[in-house]
Amino acid sequence: MVMANWKMNISRREIDRFFERLKALPDDVVNAVDIVVFPPFVYMAQTLNLIKDSFIKLGVQNIFYEERGAFTGEVSGQMVSEVGAQYVILGHSERRKYFGESDEVVNKKIKISLKNHLIPIVCIGENLDQKNQGLTKKVIKDQLMTTTQDLNGYEIKKILVAYEPIWAISTSEDNKEGKADSPEEVQVIHRYIKKLIGNCYSEDIAKHTKVIYGGSVNPENVAGFAKMFDIDGVLVGSASLSPFKFMKIIEEFAYKKS
Ligand code: PEP
Repeated sequence: MVMANWKMNISRREIDRFFERLKALPDDVVNAVDIVVFPPFVYMAQTLNLIKDSFIKLGVQNIFYEERGAFTGEVSGQMVSEVGAQYVILGHSERRKYFGESDEVVNKKIKISLKNHLIPIVCIGENLDQKNQGLTKKVIKDQLMTTTQDLNGYEIKKILVAYEPIWAISTSEDNKEGKADSPEEVQVIHRYIKKLIGNCYSEDIAKHTKVIYGGSVNPENVAGFAKMFDIDGVLVGSASLSPFKFMKIIEEFAYKKS
């Protein structure tokens, strides 16, 4: 799985150019990987139109947890699903930081997503202080348990977990040098996440759980992540704004799968 989170970047013309360039990807590469793009809401229709004859799927960067009502500025799961979104990013560290989203809010958003047939990508990850204090596993466990509270086995199978250590996100204040986590460390945490799900639900469910990594993934370091057994994909921010960099990342994962 290779996902492009464009955040509050990109323009109409850049989106046209992005998909024009992506046409250079060979069919077997595109078919081997699940590719999902997350444009800002206002570009959903344009993006859908450009991907309609391909295997690329559409996601959104957020939704609200209510079905409808007096929530000025918000967008519901039902609305985005109705116009073609299949995935939704929830609990991204930027939503937590700038919009005060808690694990409890993320939990409500997961439930409304599932109700509306959206696949939630649930972001969890520690900040630099927590890492330095050796709290990574504790933070991951707490976030995972609270965000997935009350979900049954059938529901948990439908979610994707994105491990995104905040200190490794390219634009994070914690990441002055633009460094990614190491593939070996990420593998350990992904295994741990799957083990937690195995303990709470079942081994079978843990086997089906997909955990993807996000944090400064780029064409130079992607091979290291792609070869790790429990890294089932990547969520890419900055590098996904360049079609060339994004294509290289896709190719690396296609190669891993075949
Ligand atoms: C992100 O913010 O989800 C992310 C992974 O960004 P970047 O790839 O720029 O680190």
